[in-house]
Amino acid sequence: MVLLTKSKYLNGLQCQRLLWFADRKQLPEITLSDEHKFAQGHAFEEYVKKLYPDAVDLNGLDFKENFDKTKELVEQKKKIFEAGFMSNNLFVRSDLIIPSGDGWDLYEIKSTTEIKPQHIPDLAFQKYVIEKAGLKINKCFVIFINKEYVKNGEIKPSELIKQEEVTEKVSMIDDIEKNSQIFITVIQKESPPEISICMQCNKPYECPLKKECWSILPENNVLHLTNWRVYWKLLDEGIQDLNDIPEGTKLTAKDGIIIESVKNDKPYCSKEQIKHFLSQLHYPLYHFDFETFDTAVPLFDKSKPYQKIPFQYSLHIEQEDGSTEHKEFLAGGSNDPRPALLEQMKSDLEGEGDIVVFNKSFEISVMKKLAEDFPDHDEWLQKAIGRVVDLADVFRNFYYYNPSQKGSYSIKKVLPAIAGKSYSELEINNGGDASMMYFYSHIEHKLDNKKDIRQNLRKYCCLDTEGMILILSKLKELA
Ligand code: SF4
Repeated sequence: MVLLTKSKYLNGLQCQRLLWFADRKQLPEITLSDEHKFAQGHAFEEYVKKLYPDAVDLNGLDFKENFDKTKELVEQKKKIFEAGFMSNNLFVRSDLIIPSGDGWDLYEIKSTTEIKPQHIPDLAFQKYVIEKAGLKINKCFVIFINKEYVKNGEIKPSELIKQEEVTEKVSMIDDIEKNSQIFITVIQKESPPEISICMQCNKPYECPLKKECWSILPENNVLHLTNWRVYWKLLDEGIQDLNDIPEGTKLTAKDGIIIESVKNDKPYCSKEQIKHFLSQLHYPLYHFDFETFDTAVPLFDKSKPYQKIPFQYSLHIEQEDGSTEHKEFLAGGSNDPRPALLEQMKSDLEGEGDIVVFNKSFEISVMKKLAEDFPDHDEWLQKAIGRVVDLADVFRNFYYYNPSQKGSYSIKKVLPAIAGKSYSELEINNGGDASMMYFYSHIEHKLDNKKDIRQNLRKYCCLDTEGMILILSKLKELA
């Protein structure tokens, strides 16, 4: 029997091709980052459950047990977590239903810090199925995380959790029946629907099939442009290759540089602007980079939901004569890494030279939070923030652009493009993996090769700051 569950219905709303593969369980294996996201959701749900100690939790029951138990508890007018409902081919398990007046109120638990547009059709589908199954839904709510909550001792669920009524918004959705019929037809097809790539590939979630679907694009494609309105329009018109963009297409100056460098098959370089950038630097340069992790429910006192907790940094101090010295910090245990990190960082950053980072908004936001949470360190941190220079500006402002950056100015693309040095040989080669490896080896203790992980974390973070020295040296050559 074809069954359209809530998650498949939401897949279908994003893309019918995604729905077809999801129904056949043919999506790529989930990553450690995906698992982390699910784990955050479950951790938050546990605190919501503490707010409703009189509710019956049906989590863990199989399909039939859940269904039978739901019927029994609905008759008894009990509050229920994970109640299961079915109508024809449609099935939902609702996070929480609570008896209210002549019917029930429906609650969807989301581990986000605000209500998002995709939460509304999620509730609308549930309401539709539950009402078809014979219950009346009076009100709909989203339960989400209070982003202003600051942990101080034991987590207080009533302060961590927020809820907002969305009944009116849910009631405005009237296409559930029509969509459900379409999606059931899609599931029954023998081959996946052919769908053109477009904005839906990233909205509301990055589609797990992107790698496969997007592999049809030419090497230098219009998605490398900076103006998303222009590139989606070009794709809609069937123009994929940067070389095929018609004369007269309205483009920004940056997009003009991208196309010119692809057509000329050589990097674009503004010597004057690079020279000016280099002339503003104050030596010695402190090339600096943080690694962080975050959790939905804060783990440490003086921290908020999803706050970036720094656990590692790398620092290369570069003198004007080119000599360098490397310093680093990598937290050791499962306690709050920030106090020890701050003590060492204070001493390592002592001096007057510029602190060079790649994409300053991240490093500055982490430093600002450290100053707020540990006011004893405010004075030197504010001075350090004032010394920050963003090396990414050179690439963000297109003083230099290499076609192999493929429209990106992240250090992972810039370093190989300008200096020929790649992250690909490293065991850990991106910030997301670094964060997960640290978190699941040091905090959750689910990975046991801690010694290797520590070595790989050091290599990865070190390359970020060593990479900045290499990039600067190449810029000096170009200028
Ligand atoms: S990548 Fe885009 S086109 Fe491909 S399945 Fe996902 S949403 Fe659909």
